Amino acid sequence: MTRCPHCNCRDIGKIGTQQYYCWGCFVEFSVTGEQVKMFQVEEDGSLISLDQLADAGDLSIGM
Ligand SMILES: [Zn+2]
Repeated sequence: MTRCPHCNCRDIGKIGTQQYYCWGCFVEFSVTGEQVKMFQVEEDGSLISLDQLADAGDLSIGM
């Protein structure tokens, strides 16, 4: 993993065995095999799955 899967920039840092953090879009992402999960880091340090945000977006479009 050398690029952020979210904004495609190279300014990422490794924070865990398979966890990375992007300084470009402030998104944390974990890599498990071929699967990449992205999380938005809130001010209090909690993580919100961007997959969930995407699902919510689809719902609003349907309405
Ligand atoms: Zn990024």
